[in-house]
Amino acid sequence: MLPYKSVPAAEAVLGRALTAGETIWLNYSADKSDYFLYCHTTVFLFLTFSISPFFYILFEQFQTYKIQPKVKKLSISDSLRCYLNVMPMFILVVGSLQLISYPAIQMIGIRTKLPLPSIGEVVGQLVVYFAIEDYTSYWVHRFLHCNKWVYEKIHRIHHEYNAPFVFVALYAHWAEILILGFPSLLGPAIAPGHIITFWLWIALRQLEAIETHSGYEFPWSPAKYIPFYGGAEHHDYHHYVGGESYSNFSSVFTYCDYIYGTDKGYRYHKKIRKQR
Ligand SMILES: [Zn+2]
Ligand SMILES: [Zn+2]
Repeated sequence: MLPYKSVPAAEAVLGRALTAGETIWLNYSADKSDYFLYCHTTVFLFLTFSISPFFYILFEQFQTYKIQPKVKKLSISDSLRCYLNVMPMFILVVGSLQLISYPAIQMIGIRTKLPLPSIGEVVGQLVVYFAIEDYTSYWVHRFLHCNKWVYEKIHRIHHEYNAPFVFVALYAHWAEILILGFPSLLGPAIAPGHIITFWLWIALRQLEAIETHSGYEFPWSPAKYIPFYGGAEHHDYHHYVGGESYSNFSSVFTYCDYIYGTDKGYRYHKKIRKQR
């Protein structure tokens, strides 16, 4: 439970007036348990995966900026069917992981009380989380391809689609959702922050997964503005090559693929496409 139950009590402890954001947070969280606040993560995941894909579903009806333009258009009813197929499993697996990982979250010291983190602290921690997740999931993803048994039994499901679309981000074996969930928790374990930063991290990581599986490379895609950011085109190639793929394992950035030489096929493919 939070140690401060009222604004005057919190101001007395902090020795200063609360900001508007801190007052809102205190009023919302003062009578809620840390466990209840942590459970919000599953709700944010559900909202992120329920709201953001609809932008791509609408765009699918126009087919502009599609990375693989010859792939069959997905109707709105097909998209809804996909959503209803993948969502229950995803929420079941991720929701369970969220609920049982609470003791670990307590142990690593993710805080819920005031003061709220500064913008600098939030941005710094998010950068660290992205870097750790990217590096770790590169090797986990590479292992999912290198080990034949693991690929056949687990990762093959995610590769059923050679041309990804938003819901492929969720379309995976339950074991893969769990295995790739750990790199996402490693950053907060190493550099724990406020629960609001944790929620933001989980939401941004899922938005990134949706974007990279969208099958669209828009002029405003982050890959055009953030150095070494992989984006949809980078991961689309990984799916395009299919199960035998030994290219583009990174989840967020491209530097691991470059350093370890697992983007040679992709770079050659891009060069050929440019020449056409
Ligand atoms: Zn793969
Ligand atoms: Zn994928």
